[in-house]
Amino acid sequence: MTYQELKAEENKYVMNTYGRFPIALDHGEGATVWDVEGKKYIDLASGIGVNCMGYNNPKIIDAITEQAHKLMHVSNLFTTAPMVQVAKKLVEKTHLNGKVFFANSGAEANEGAIKLARKYSYDKYGEGRYKIVTLINSFHGRTVTTLKATGQDRFHNYFFPFTEGFDYAVANDFDSVRKKVDDMTCAVMMELIQGEGGVLPLDADFVKQFEALCREKDLLLIIDEVQTGIGRTGSLFCFQQYGIRPDVVTMAKGLGGGMPIGAVLAAESCSNVLTPGTHATTFGGTPIVCAAANAVLDTVGDGQFLAQVREKGEYLKNGILSLGSPDIHGVRGMGLMLGIIVDEGKHAAFANKLIEKGVLAITAGKNAVRLLPPLTISKEEMDEALHIMKEVF
Ligand SMILES: *Cc1c(COP(=O)(O)O)cnc(C)c1O
Repeated sequence: MTYQELKAEENKYVMNTYGRFPIALDHGEGATVWDVEGKKYIDLASGIGVNCMGYNNPKIIDAITEQAHKLMHVSNLFTTAPMVQVAKKLVEKTHLNGKVFFANSGAEANEGAIKLARKYSYDKYGEGRYKIVTLINSFHGRTVTTLKATGQDRFHNYFFPFTEGFDYAVANDFDSVRKKVDDMTCAVMMELIQGEGGVLPLDADFVKQFEALCREKDLLLIIDEVQTGIGRTGSLFCFQQYGIRPDVVTMAKGLGGGMPIGAVLAAESCSNVLTPGTHATTFGGTPIVCAAANAVLDTVGDGQFLAQVREKGEYLKNGILSLGSPDIHGVRGMGLMLGIIVDEGKHAAFANKLIEKGVLAITAGKNAVRLLPPLTISKEEMDEALHIMKEVF
């Protein structure tokens, strides 16, 4: 089918919830994808930071294929090896001495973290200590609760009543955080680099002060690493570069290398809060998805691989800056999570133009063209993308 034919059927049968770019993708190899009409693109988006190992990666494909022949799914009423292995790798590589709960998406991972924080406080202090402070301009998901956790008013519409108990502080303004935290607060939740909000890294000092406040008041420090995690910023998790010890880390996007998985990693401080009957999901930790996650962690968890992510990030960032275009006002971010800053409101037009010329890029916030390429992207692919960017900017 051509794009036009597919689009006509999509319009007829699929809910109109996305403003999609006008191409239909067909297959990929490395960081390169082809659409149904055979046109080639360098993919600097990798889904939305999901395909961290690139397309047609033999490690992921072999892991999934092998597991498919054995077991694709059994319920959480039984133990399976792939799930235990993923949990062990996450715990060992983060040194948080924690335990993992498996979910299926980022929003679900955050829901799990919110439930965990409230129960931690309930168990220890009783009722009434349920408030969670998040940051303005954050993004935490699309469920009724995680929408409310998201610190952007435009998400708080239509679906009333939302879950109560969230309040929002100004990022990088510690006084604002202090004012929002009171006797009813049980946790704070934040992204270290606001992804959807515009690729905005938090200041290291602010994050350190935040951590100290959590220790002082026994608040759980929840770090949403759904976008920043799994090597994206050049360390397995971004918190490792900030030098903090979170109580809870949530993750999803890159963890399955394209398979849907989310996870809540709770540190020693709260790893036994959720008990039988308090939280569950049918699909979470299912073997075929965990087989992929094991392949991802074996690759991305390696120090050499992470060093390459940092080098590639520098290379791409410097390449973009050296285009010397007056359209580009800077590049924000860490590792291979980058935002090209353009005039406010012009980001979507640039992303469209890039796609038309053969580079997949997405947008973030008010003025960022967001790049989240596969972590395995080659120098040749980056050069090709930079060459096309030179035409667009
Ligand atoms: C994408 C994202 C989510 C939501 O993840 P889903 O898998 O879409 O539910 C939550 N938090 C952050 C920081 C994200 O980037």
